[in-house]
Amino acid sequence: MSGVTIGVLALQGAFAEHMKMLRQLGVTAREVRKPEELDGLDGLIIPGGESTSMALIAERWGLVQPLKAWVGAGKPTWGTCAGMILLSDRATGQKQGGQSLIGGLDVTVNRNYFGRQIDSFEADLTVPALGAPPVHAVFIRAPAITGTGAGVEVLADLTDNAGQTVAVAVQSGPILATAFHPELTDDLRWHALFVRMVTESDAD
Ligand code: GLN
Repeated sequence: MSGVTIGVLALQGAFAEHMKMLRQLGVTAREVRKPEELDGLDGLIIPGGESTSMALIAERWGLVQPLKAWVGAGKPTWGTCAGMILLSDRATGQKQGGQSLIGGLDVTVNRNYFGRQIDSFEADLTVPALGAPPVHAVFIRAPAITGTGAGVEVLADLTDNAGQTVAVAVQSGPILATAFHPELTDDLRWHALFVRMVTESDAD
């Protein structure tokens, strides 16, 4: 489908599922565990899992600075769930230690926003950027975005049990973030959207 190569950070969590979906779209995909494996990539996915564990492994494997440099250079990056937490500039509801470890996305994320209410749930989201039909989204101890800075576009939001509306998918320039797990469904539209972001950025 495209000549781009997309990496999936493979320290912990749901990386294999992202790899599979990229390959279904005909994209060259590569697991990333070492800093040098970022070289030559056109885009990067940071999967869901557990943000504290992922942060600890990234620190141990010397990936924190390279990942910050990657995002800081404006390379296309998509964080799902724990990956979204790591990309956020500000995090609340976190354990000691920096889960907003990489940063670059000007939002405030609440790490276990929905986890306080119910561990896991599924919801159908209206996402104008993806068109019809609505997206079936799987939330697992999911975070939510409670505040967005300038230049952050909300792609999908959700109203919680308390009547509070929070963002669950956003895009800011080359960064895409989703609070849920598109890689656990068979809907390829989020991956196709990210591949488009990568392809367009590659053409610059
Ligand atoms: N709330 C979890 C965390 O803090 C994220 C859960 C997930 O990625 N499914 O890492």
